[in-house]
Amino acid sequence: MEYGLDPSFPIYAGGLGILAGDHMKSVGDLRIPLTGIGLFWDEGYTKQTISRAGQVEDGYPKTPRDALRRIDVRLEVTVRGKKVPLRAWKLERYITSTLYLLEPEHEDDRWITQRLYGGGDEDRLAQEIVLGVGGVRLLHALGEAVDVYHFNEGHAVFAGLELLRQHRYGGATLPERVAKLRPHVAFTTHTPVPAGNEVHELALMRKMDADLGFTDAELEVIGGDPFSMTVAGLRLARIANGVAELHGETARTMWKDVDGAAPIIAVTNGVHAPTWQDARIRAALVPDKAKATQDAELWNAHQAMKREMVAEIATRTGVHLKAEGFVIGFARRAASYKRADLILGDDAALAKLFDAGVQIVYSGKAHPRDTEGKKLVVKLVEAAKQHPGHVVFVESYDMRVGALLTRGVDVWLNNPRRPLEASGTSGMKAAMNGVPNVSILDGWWPEGCEHGVTGWKIGDADPADDAFDEADAKRVDLRDRQLLFDVLENEVLPAYADRAKWVAIMRASIAMSQWRFASDRMIEDYVAKVYSASAPAT
Ligand SMILES: *Cc1c(COP(=O)(O)O)cnc(C)c1O
Repeated sequence: MEYGLDPSFPIYAGGLGILAGDHMKSVGDLRIPLTGIGLFWDEGYTKQTISRAGQVEDGYPKTPRDALRRIDVRLEVTVRGKKVPLRAWKLERYITSTLYLLEPEHEDDRWITQRLYGGGDEDRLAQEIVLGVGGVRLLHALGEAVDVYHFNEGHAVFAGLELLRQHRYGGATLPERVAKLRPHVAFTTHTPVPAGNEVHELALMRKMDADLGFTDAELEVIGGDPFSMTVAGLRLARIANGVAELHGETARTMWKDVDGAAPIIAVTNGVHAPTWQDARIRAALVPDKAKATQDAELWNAHQAMKREMVAEIATRTGVHLKAEGFVIGFARRAASYKRADLILGDDAALAKLFDAGVQIVYSGKAHPRDTEGKKLVVKLVEAAKQHPGHVVFVESYDMRVGALLTRGVDVWLNNPRRPLEASGTSGMKAAMNGVPNVSILDGWWPEGCEHGVTGWKIGDADPADDAFDEADAKRVDLRDRQLLFDVLENEVLPAYADRAKWVAIMRASIAMSQWRFASDRMIEDYVAKVYSASAPAT
């Protein structure tokens, strides 16, 4: 649905898209024969601005088209019973792998791909019909021999419906057709958060009529009633995966009652090192240098990146942070489970941190329809006003801001409500730049954390504590806030006061992440455990 390839090409919203972008970059670097299908979003995703009065506003600039080359194919899908001719673009920049982007040919159908995650359920289904049905038809029109279809998130499930419709996977009954298709499909689920696991009423599926020839009863067999894209993905695939070890476990529990579901394994996410790791970090650590030289260069590289960040923040916000002072970074989508405001909830403890010279840099956008998320952004903007010089909010979090902050801050803070963060990848970017993580043991962090060595955990991982309901969430929030202040005061700040100790932690953070949390490793895992596990094409 989205690809984060470059800040100047905003057809992505956040983590999911940047992961797909990094996937395509590594596939190109490693020369894996994988082709990407996406949509061309005419106005991309929201660009956030904060007015002087502190109002958070969304803007929608046009996506540039100069990196696109039109492909000569005729394609058509059906939406609401009406034929929608499509055109296909091939992306000519940013990656060496192949990515096709689809959009309706005619102006009056363009509402479908106007805005990423814009509109309501009907828009979403129309988008998914273009992506899934249009995507499969494009590959066939191009004569591509496909061994495995990777439905990377439930958004792609219409591809499965189209494949079932086609003769190639034909058969007398629906179960027979599904049995023929499954060896050729892999499915990745990306979040345990309910809002991220889309469901649609069968009546709406019928209304959006994609002319694929399924009865309601057949759709129900595939995705349930209401139709769950995740359930459908699990039933149409031979193998499925979550995006970190812990998320694999969470997903297995979450979907255990789905009969006929693919087994769910885990492939932990990774980030594209050439994109996200500063070249100065790699240069500092080349093996032929003496350790003392490496240490000095690593520290100096970090200081240089930190000064660049401080200067850029001053330009953008007018706030001058102190480059000598300790800086905590927190930037992510403003979703409530990520608890951006956790650290702001205890004034006395916060004042103590500020007295010790601690500064906090925030950035984050809310989904255009997420009112809770928007309130959270307003709260962060207000905190910045309330604590000038100590808290700053950088508007319009995007790949550029992400790169700036994951290089320039001293530690990367992550405090989601466990186990709702499926993986998280910003912490991997930070780790690779020698910015250690201070994080709840959620997502990827249980795999990367060696407490006090590669970074720090906030509290422990007791599955009995994992909070899903509201009442429990409040208690967990209170406890986690206390644990967060404890680890900052008693462990992180004392370590920062000892340069040799700190540089050792920076080194350990880089060594831990360099390969294990790189997208090249992730792609090797997908090839070995997910793509190759499928039977060859019939
Ligand atoms: C890396 C990145 C993300 C994803 O990070 P999370 O840790 O999953 O929140 C989101 N947005 C931007 C701009 C990023 O660079």
